[in-house]
Amino acid sequence: MSSDRTEPYDVVIVGGGPGGLSAAVALGRGRKRVLLCDAGPRRNAAATHIHNFVTRDGTPPEEFRAVARQQLSEYANVAVVDEYVSSVTGARGAFEVGVGSGRVQARRVLLCTGMIDEMPSIPGFRELWGQSIFQCPYCHGWELRDRQWGYFVRAFDPQHFQAFSLLLRGWTRDVVVFTHGVVDVPEAALQALGAAGIRVETQPLVGLLRKDAKLEAVQLADGSTVPRDALFTHPAQKQVELVRELGVALDDDGFVRVDPMTRETSRAGVYAAGDLATRMQGAILAAAAATHAATVINMELTAELVMAGLR
Ligand SMILES: Cc1cc2nc3c(=O)[nH]c(=O)nc-3n(C[C@H](O)[C@H](O)[C@H](O)COP(=O)(O)OP(=O)(O)OC[C@H]3O[C@@H](n4cnc5c(N)ncnc54)[C@H](O)[C@@H]3O)c2cc1C
Repeated sequence: MSSDRTEPYDVVIVGGGPGGLSAAVALGRGRKRVLLCDAGPRRNAAATHIHNFVTRDGTPPEEFRAVARQQLSEYANVAVVDEYVSSVTGARGAFEVGVGSGRVQARRVLLCTGMIDEMPSIPGFRELWGQSIFQCPYCHGWELRDRQWGYFVRAFDPQHFQAFSLLLRGWTRDVVVFTHGVVDVPEAALQALGAAGIRVETQPLVGLLRKDAKLEAVQLADGSTVPRDALFTHPAQKQVELVRELGVALDDDGFVRVDPMTRETSRAGVYAAGDLATRMQGAILAAAAATHAATVINMELTAELVMAGLR
């Protein structure tokens, strides 16, 4: 029944990463008519394996998505398409969604569109992202334990700076914090890091030296180099175009604001889950948040459809 695009869908899910795919399972099992639209690239496109996801630890991201799609194919009420969602107009219960070159109707919309990482303009950064440069030590730290690590601090956040620097020490004794000449670190934080054996390097990074597609050393403004095997950092992020155009409310860090109980955005009937709504970013976290959103949507819709005599 899902192939008939003239009939309204119960839910259009935008995004086929861990978030969107998980929501589709819950809504499919809840017997809702679902259209999941995904138009890559995925956030972890540069990574070769997903870690820190129980039963999926070490799975290549493409395999993760392929298995999810294969499992979803068992639900005739769920359609998964590789199509771009360009617009969402209308209101709760009667949205019109621009999908590919056409339009579909939907009672609810769930945004699982992830975030766009903006690569710093340091030579070598883009090539090493996902290979030797990572956002999260839980995802890629184990494989590089006891090696030479760096923390590239892009912008100073007093809550995060010291805690994240110390966190990295849990995987290796050799951590250098690079403040890139732009971050003014308070004396108390410097002392804490020093006590933990963490060196702070204040010069700007001007390049990243590679060998066999892996990081070999960080090059500093004075021409010196610091040998490193891995760099952790949090690039600036932005919302995808659809979310920016929708105009849903964002928090001070640029993440989509959602009601914590329902995961509804500032736009009634539009929900959000996964990386786009939190700094706590990880595949299993996105999957859990999207399952939460899906169960709320399913509960609301079921009552609505049953009372209207539509189910
Ligand atoms: C280099 C790297 C390595 C990582 N490694 C790990 C790891 O090992 N373990 C872990 O747990 N996490 C890891 N992460 C984090 C993890 O990838 C994310 O937390 C997770 O993918 C978020 O899932 P999501 O569903 O919210 O978004 P995403 O996985 O980013 O999926 C969003 C999807 O929505 C699609 N989309 C966006 N806009 C539209 C539109 N308008 N129409 C249609 N489709 C659209 C995108 O193309 C994308 O496919 C890593 C991240 C990076 C950057």
